[in-house]
Amino acid sequence: MEKLKEMLEELESIGDENVKKKLQLKQSSKLIVKLDSLSEECEECQHHFDGFEDHIHQLKAGDFNEDSLKKHKKFLYKVTSHLQKKHKIVSEGYYMSIFMSIGISMGVVFGLTIFDNIALGIPIGLSMGLAIGAGIDADSKKKGLVL
Ligand SMILES: [Zn+2]
Repeated sequence: MEKLKEMLEELESIGDENVKKKLQLKQSSKLIVKLDSLSEECEECQHHFDGFEDHIHQLKAGDFNEDSLKKHKKFLYKVTSHLQKKHKIVSEGYYMSIFMSIGISMGVVFGLTIFDNIALGIPIGLSMGLAIGAGIDADSKKKGLVL
């Protein structure tokens, strides 16, 4: 764990901003923390956690070429979707964005039916969606289910 953190800090010091952006270091370190805390109960998390170190080595060995950065993106995506599917861990604001779009479509429906005024329905649906999404986000955060 410490070693991985050091490796990430080392990556933090590389000069190329463009590369750094693609490395998504903040996201990576959040993922590492989660994987570490889950690795005792989940084999796949353990596997991803072990994979991270190799993976960073490969990035460095390849001198952060386009190809290795693409692999990195894929790797992060794989880890993120595992956490989401298996452990219900989502990124910040995840439910907010989902319920926002649900709210807007509900708003359109209500606007057309109940209020007979679509311009009134949309903001009502939107604010309801935001409130519900924010509530679930806050709840997930409390339960440690947010990255
Ligand atoms: Zn897992």
